[in-house]
Formats: sequence, C-alpha cells, structure tokens
Amino acid sequence: MKTQVLVIGGGVGGLTVALKLARCGVEVCVIEMLKGSASMYKGELLQPKSIQILQELGLRKHVEASGHRINEIEVVEKREKQNQFTTIGCSSMNYNILNSPYDYAIMVPHEKLKSILLDEAKKYSSFTYIQPGRFKGFKGKKAIVAMEKEEVEVEAEVFVGAEGRKSKTREAMDIKLKEHKYDHHFLTVSFPRPPDLTEGKMIATPHTFLGLFPLPGNMVRTVYLIPSGSYKDMKEKGIEHFYKAYSELCPELSEYVTHIKSWREIQLMIPVHFNAGQYVKDNVVIMGDAAHSVHPMAGEGMNLAIQDGDVLGELLCWMNSEHGNLSCLKWYEKVRKPRVSKVLQLSHLSALAYSKPFRYFPNVRKRAIHQMTSDEKLHTKQMLNVSGLGFWRESLLDRFVQMGILPARHYGSLQYEGHIFNEKTDYPWEEGGSLQ
Ligand SMILES: Cc1cc2nc3c(=O)[nH]c(=O)nc-3n(C[C@H](O)[C@H](O)[C@H](O)COP(=O)(O)OP(=O)(O)OC[C@H]3O[C@@H](n4cnc5c(N)ncnc54)[C@H](O)[C@@H]3O)c2cc1C
Repeated sequence: MKTQVLVIGGGVGGLTVALKLARCGVEVCVIEMLKGSASMYKGELLQPKSIQILQELGLRKHVEASGHRINEIEVVEKREKQNQFTTIGCSSMNYNILNSPYDYAIMVPHEKLKSILLDEAKKYSSFTYIQPGRFKGFKGKKAIVAMEKEEVEVEAEVFVGAEGRKSKTREAMDIKLKEHKYDHHFLTVSFPRPPDLTEGKMIATPHTFLGLFPLPGNMVRTVYLIPSGSYKDMKEKGIEHFYKAYSELCPELSEYVTHIKSWREIQLMIPVHFNAGQYVKDNVVIMGDAAHSVHPMAGEGMNLAIQDGDVLGELLCWMNSEHGNLSCLKWYEKVRKPRVSKVLQLSHLSALAYSKPFRYFPNVRKRAIHQMTSDEKLHTKQMLNVSGLGFWRESLLDRFVQMGILPARHYGSLQYEGHIFNEKTDYPWEEGGSLQ
C-alpha cells in the first residue's frame, strides 16, 4: 500500500493533522488500532487556541453546539477544622480578560470531538481511514500495519506517530525520555450536576483538590486528587467513602455524586510529565502525547495535540504545494517544541502547588492565586499562556506581586499584541524564514 502521509493513531492530534492534509489535497491515511470508540476519559476542555483552529477548519459552531461554554474558573481554598470545611479564600480566573474573539473555553466530550473531526475528513477523497489498523514497527522504509485479517506494508513520504504516550513510532526513532512522576494521582468521573454549576470550579485544601467542569447534558466532569498509591485502599473502603469525600468538600454535590453506583465507573489518572528531545527524524515525526505529556492541572494535553496537528498539517500542505515534496519537517519541531516546553513548565508549576511540600502551605497558595487574579497583568498573562493564543513570560516584578510583596496593578488597557501568536509565528516558513 502507498500513501503520501501515514498517520499512526486516530486520536484528536492524528485526526486534526489528517483533516488539514485532506483539505489541501495531500493523500493521507490514518490507522487506528481500536475497533470501536475508546471508553476511557481523555480530556474535554478545549482552550481558546484550539477553538480558533476549529473555526479555521469550519467546525467551531458544530463543536460548540455539542459542548458547554466556560468563561471562568472559580478557585476556592478551604481548610478543615474538627471535620468541618470552611472557605478561607476565593478567586476567579476569567477567560474574558483576553482581548480576543476566543475569550472562552468549551467542555466537549472527547469522543464527540473526534467524531466531528473524522466525519469532516471523510468528506475528502484524499483521506483514508483504516480501523482497526495497528502499527507494529518499521521494516526498512515501510510501516508494518496489522489489520483484521492481514498484515500490510505501507510506503509513505512521511510517517506521523500520533499514537499517544506509549508511542511505537517514538520507540522506532530511538528517542529516549526523561519522565517526571508526581506524588499524587487523580480520580475522574462525570455525573449529573446542580443546575447552577455552569462555570468551572476548583476546590483545594492542604490535602486534596476537586476540579468541577460542567459538560453538556447537565453533566459535570470531576477530578479528585489522591496521594499516589492510595487508590486500592480507597476502593476497599467502598463507594460511600467516595461520596463522603466529595460531599465534605462540596456539599452541593451530595445528592448528585450518589448517581455513581460503583468504583468501576471511576477512572484512575496517573499524571506524567515529559517532552521528547526531538520530534523529527528523517521522514518520521511524532506529535501530541507521543511527543510530550503534560500534567492535567492546566487542561492542556488535548490542546497541545490539536495545536501540533495544526502546525504540522499547515507545513505539510505548504511543502506539498511549494516544493512538490515533503522534506522540511524540522520547521514543525522549531515552532512547536519551545511552545510545548513553556506550557509544560506552566502546568508543572501548577501541579507543584498541589504537591508535597507546597500543598501544606495553603495560605501561600491562596495569596498567590488571589494576587494573580487581582493583578490585571498577571491575570492576563496567566489566561493568555493557558489559552494557547500566545505567550507572555512573567517577570521578576510579576513574581513579587504574586507573592504579595508588591500590590496588585491596574492598567485600564494593556497592550500585548507582540505576545500573541499570529500566522507569521505559527507558520514562519511561509515568510521564507531560516531553519537555523
Ligand atoms: C486519563 C486521562 C485524562 C486526561 N485528561 C485531560 C484533560 O482533562 N485535558 C486535556 O487537555 N487532556 C487530558 N488528557 C490528555 C489528552 O487525552 C491527551 O493529551 C490527548 O488525547 C492526546 O491526543 P493524541 O491524539 O496525541 O493521543 P491519543 O488521544 O492518546 O490518541 C492516540 C490514538 O492512537 C491509537 N494507537 C495507539 N497505538 C497505536 C498503534 N500502534 N497503531 C495504531 N493506533 C494506535 C490509540 O488507540 C488512540 O486512539 C488526559 C489523558 C488521559 C489518559
């Protein structure tokens, strides 16, 4: 079998790059090893940059109609005294502070988003989808793909490894990783929500953290932090123990959490942090979770995969039309790797605030979050950096404000166009830039 681009893995990242290629007439084949749709929870929060990409693909309205819009995330700090939780601080991180048409996030079921991307790609004759099709490795310059009844060799000008964390493509490229593990894991489950829970909410104590993110259909995605290694013990205590943990932190949920009938519905999430040293080797590329894995605290994993797919897709389309071949792949790494590093760092720092020993200083965390949301510049920087629309590094002065050593600042109107990504910075090869 022969194709111009073989995409290994039909996750959000693989489908985004494939759709971009199909739209510009590059022959692309996606292989997905699962027979049906995945049952595992895999992230649902679409950040503003991903919404912008979906708009450019003509899919924003469709995705929005299947999702729930989020404008702000309330951050509540609580403390326990004699089995009672009292609120000691409350702040709000607001996307609306961004001066952009994409000043909001969307919660959309992961499989729904994938089906929207796949259905759109199937409209193009240059797109082929093989399911189940499992990549086994390379034999010379060809990929070996196991299908239901046969094994085929696939020849391609470019191979894209988009198979998630356990990437066989990355393994074949002999790229080594330095993985960072955390002292905590997460439990995640969704269930019906109270009608007034329409925005994001994060409730933190020195010992745990509960994230609540409303989904369409009056559901809520919940993420609950537990110490690593404690999952088995918790399960043994029975489902009532889980109800109690949620109800203590958020009494409004007590009559909703009981919709969960057994531990089987609750998924364990183990956060890992890594960034591959290299995304490209000859004509083989890795993207999304195959190239990097991010702590889920800032809700970035799925977004980084979509944004990789956007840049890689645009580059491959340009190479095909301008050069007639697909040979300048390093541009993709040059644009994406530094941006991914910054987002990974941001998520890692947020994760540390909820890790030992920092989580035992809730007053410091409360002050830092309060200052960050009260100071116009810090708030804008935080939301811009999380949004993916741009990046604006924090200065030493910002850190003093965040620690409360200097007061919060107000500007009226902040100018930060220079920190927003645009076509020139997203796709610099089109301007004839240098790869060095
Ligand atoms: C439990 C969990 C919770 C998460 N929560 C969040 C969140 O809240 N927010 C967020 O933004 N991100 C979250 N993420 C991360 C997010 O799911 C990933 O970053 C995102 O899905 C990466 O997309 P991807 O396309 O790179 O990989 P994946 O979504 O992992 O897709 C890879 C695809 O490749 C297929 N595949 C694997 N091996 C092969 C092979 N050999 N041959 C063919 N196909 C193959 C897989 O079946 C899969 O369909 C979470 C991830 C997990 C695991």
